[in-house]
Amino acid sequence: MGRADYLALGDWNVVCYECGHKFKASMMKRHWQGYWVCPAHWEPRQPQDFVRSVPDNMTPPWVQPMPADTFTFGDLLITESSSLTENFDYISTETFYPLTTET
Ligand SMILES: [Zn+2]
Repeated sequence: MGRADYLALGDWNVVCYECGHKFKASMMKRHWQGYWVCPAHWEPRQPQDFVRSVPDNMTPPWVQPMPADTFTFGDLLITESSSLTENFDYISTETFYPLTTET
């Protein structure tokens, strides 16, 4: 006969999951891992388990592109929409003016 071996209506005997001693079920507490233990062996879950990191958003609040380069050769204005061709004989603009113009 142990301490828990007495009649208690609506109650029953259980064994602590950690120490193995017999207790009444109404005394037991549920461990955070799911099993039932006596009050002496119950422990709260480590609060560090609930720590969440702050999201590290490294995106700058706003950005802008570099302004377009603008070159002039005499009266010829070359802007961002212009680009050099592969053989560099021409600086192609929207209207494809030749680099060496004969005027
Ligand atoms: Zn116990």
